[in-house]
Amino acid sequence: MTLKERIEDIKKRIEIASQSVGRNPQDVMLLGVTKTKSVSLILESLEKGIEFIGENKVQEAYEKIPLLNGKFKEFHFIGHLQSNKINKLLRLNPALIHSIDKISTATKLNEHLIKIDRIQDVLIQINTSNEDSKFGIKPSEVYDFVGSLKNLSNINITGLMTIGKLTDNKEEIRKCFKMLKDIFDDLKKESLPGIKHLSMGMSHDFEIAIEEGATIVRIGSAIFGERNYD
Ligand SMILES: *Cc1c(COP(=O)(O)O)cnc(C)c1O
Repeated sequence: MTLKERIEDIKKRIEIASQSVGRNPQDVMLLGVTKTKSVSLILESLEKGIEFIGENKVQEAYEKIPLLNGKFKEFHFIGHLQSNKINKLLRLNPALIHSIDKISTATKLNEHLIKIDRIQDVLIQINTSNEDSKFGIKPSEVYDFVGSLKNLSNINITGLMTIGKLTDNKEEIRKCFKMLKDIFDDLKKESLPGIKHLSMGMSHDFEIAIEEGATIVRIGSAIFGERNYD
């Protein structure tokens, strides 16, 4: 398939998965994950139907995003944020940071935001799969975490993010997404009535995520091809 065909195929699959559970496909944002991919490929994708792009490394984003000449609708940061990279990241005006999982980093982020007089939308990353290798806070710690984050004046929590368990077992993956949705519903009722985003689902599991309520799916390899890290 060509790049255009892959983008159209993913959009079609988003539509089918949404409709299978009576959801409006327009309520699911397709975030094209462009990490490790070249500026020319990203530019091509922006001409062929990608509007929202996500990167997971600040340095890489810092080098590539300015070269896209604003041809995207939104840039999202989806990786682990180190506190010494906050300044650089903010210069790229991320519409959304998906991956807040430490109070210390959030506090520093807030200090930078106050200085530049900006409110930043963020998601809280939750580790729903209990895998050690993954970032994200434990489900049991969410409520305390939200309590602390709510004191930070310039940080606006708009939802939650998770990475599904890396397994072929679809029911195990589904459990992760269901857990995130349950936490989301609780928070919305109790302490965060304004939240709207559930960022979950990647190339291999986005349809399950949509069935469970995802509003943002983060798709890399199924659109841009496998990543080569050498
Ligand atoms: C790389 C990455 C993705 C995309 O993964 P694919 O399997 O290539 O679709 C999504 N979310 C995060 C946080 C990532 O780092």
